[in-house]
Amino acid sequence: MGRVYNFSAGPAVLPEEVLKEAADEMLDYQGTGMSVMEMSHRSKAYDDIIKTAEKDLRELMNIPDNYKVLFLQGGASQQFAAIPMNLMKNKVADYIITGQWAKKAYQEAQKYGKVNAIASSEDETYSYIPDCSDLPISEDADYVYICENNTIYGTKYKTLPNTKGKILVSDVSSCFLSEPVDVTKYGVIYGGVQKNIGPAGVVIVIIREDLIRDDVLEGTPTMLKYKTQADNDSLYNTPPCYGIYICGKVFKWLKKMGGLEVMKKRNEEKAAILYDFLDQSKLFKGTVRKEDRSLMNVPFVTGDKDLDAKFVAEAKAAGFENLKGHRTVGGMRASIYNAMPKEGVEKLVEFMKKFEAENAK
Ligand SMILES: *Cc1c(COP(=O)(O)O)cnc(C)c1O
Repeated sequence: MGRVYNFSAGPAVLPEEVLKEAADEMLDYQGTGMSVMEMSHRSKAYDDIIKTAEKDLRELMNIPDNYKVLFLQGGASQQFAAIPMNLMKNKVADYIITGQWAKKAYQEAQKYGKVNAIASSEDETYSYIPDCSDLPISEDADYVYICENNTIYGTKYKTLPNTKGKILVSDVSSCFLSEPVDVTKYGVIYGGVQKNIGPAGVVIVIIREDLIRDDVLEGTPTMLKYKTQADNDSLYNTPPCYGIYICGKVFKWLKKMGGLEVMKKRNEEKAAILYDFLDQSKLFKGTVRKEDRSLMNVPFVTGDKDLDAKFVAEAKAAGFENLKGHRTVGGMRASIYNAMPKEGVEKLVEFMKKFEAENAK
């Protein structure tokens, strides 16, 4: 049985090369006589793994020295609480609601302070990114929060909001390492790795050092305090060792591919194949405002629920997995992360053309 084209939104496709390497090292990691899964997180071998992973990530993203890189657990969802607990000095924050993940973060933050929804695209099922050039940013806001790529709806910020000098916090779970970013524009960049980097179980937090403080909200658990994690180089307790090891391999793979500029170009090419087809198709259509389209998650519909279901079923039979849209939106969604080969997208479009011809009205 060969590998399928896996269009899952997450956990998602990983580079085959990385999986093969991990398989080769499964029983004996570089002469240690054990798997990375069996290794002490305090061992020399593991110390090299986590330090090299951080170094490579810093290189890929050009992370300045005054930012810490943390490898944590609890998923992106745990950060929905950790962020207000650590950053809410004035107990005020502004959130831009561009989808379900941003909304969940907004709702969670309400437990900790006064949280304002300063813009939203909920009125049109989150099919666009609101104009963020002149928002009513609160004078005493501790930060402005965005979800930069909306995994479920397939939108992406093409320009960052004007935060009027406030700290920007961004959930980049589904666009992590898909293109270069200017880290200096953010106070916190974070994401679960299971979309575009590695296996579920690791969340990476990149945080400017001056935001790592002792005076966090009262009652903040030790584990959720960024200072605890930063002071201990993500080794306060046992980290998600194996997941970090795979992330490290993906960082090496990305470096070998040529880095994030090259990945961006590749991702643009891949996405264009699909969007160009959708734009001229008589059966399928994209659901997102053109200028806000994500390079990573591409939702589309036929406009007929039964036909959508038929498409998903026939696609699956033909080796295209996980094309069903999110349960809250319906239709289809193709997630075409870094590790999805261009050939996978080309073949999908071929299949869509065939389906269109067979199902023309
Ligand atoms: C998947 C996802 C989440 C939730 O991630 P978990 O690791 O499951 O908590 C949050 N934000 C975005 C943008 C996502 O795509």
